[in-house]
Amino acid sequence: MTEMDLIRCFIGLGSNLEDPRAQVDQALDELAALPDCELVARSSLYRSDPVGPAGQPDYINAVAELHTRLEAETLLDRLQALEQAHRRVRLEHWGPRTLDLDLLLYGNTTIDTPRLHVPHPWMRERAFVLWPLAEIAPDLILPDGCALKQCLAYCPMGTLERISL
Ligand code: ATP
Ligand code: CA
Ligand code: CA
Repeated sequence: MTEMDLIRCFIGLGSNLEDPRAQVDQALDELAALPDCELVARSSLYRSDPVGPAGQPDYINAVAELHTRLEAETLLDRLQALEQAHRRVRLEHWGPRTLDLDLLLYGNTTIDTPRLHVPHPWMRERAFVLWPLAEIAPDLILPDGCALKQCLAYCPMGTLERISL
């Protein structure tokens, strides 16, 4: 694949069920194997406290940089197919899941359709997104011109822990 026409994307990965580390590692391999996509970088794995309903197991999170020729909605289809392949069942919003794949950024594009909001609406509030993202793209500027480093200043690591590559 040439570098022409490739869009620089970032994907947030999360799991808190059924061997979360293995779920995330396997999902990274699956992202690397997606047609018309190239996995350019991946963060370490991070452990974070669960968001949403109490009593869930901890999360394992990571962020991947993917360069793609796919349209954003097509990429979302691929991500959702991977979630399904990991037998994700949507029982409750923000409930536990085997695999969650969020499209964080799609180049410098802003997207607001019923299915897709990019940049991901909550990414600036989430340490488990921003810190892994900064590990692989420290000098990133968000589509609105805000520097990722500036976002980090407002979103401390808190209980987020970097655990391994
Ligand atoms: P959150 O969006 O707060 O991280 P979640 O990941 O638990 O919550 P899901 O149940 O995985 O939410 O997704 C709900 C819907 O969000 C999906 O069906 C999808 O159409 C929509 N969606 C909107 N924007 C995005 C995005 N940038 N990446 C992934 N899904 C998105
Ligand atoms: Ca999510
Ligand atoms: Ca999601």
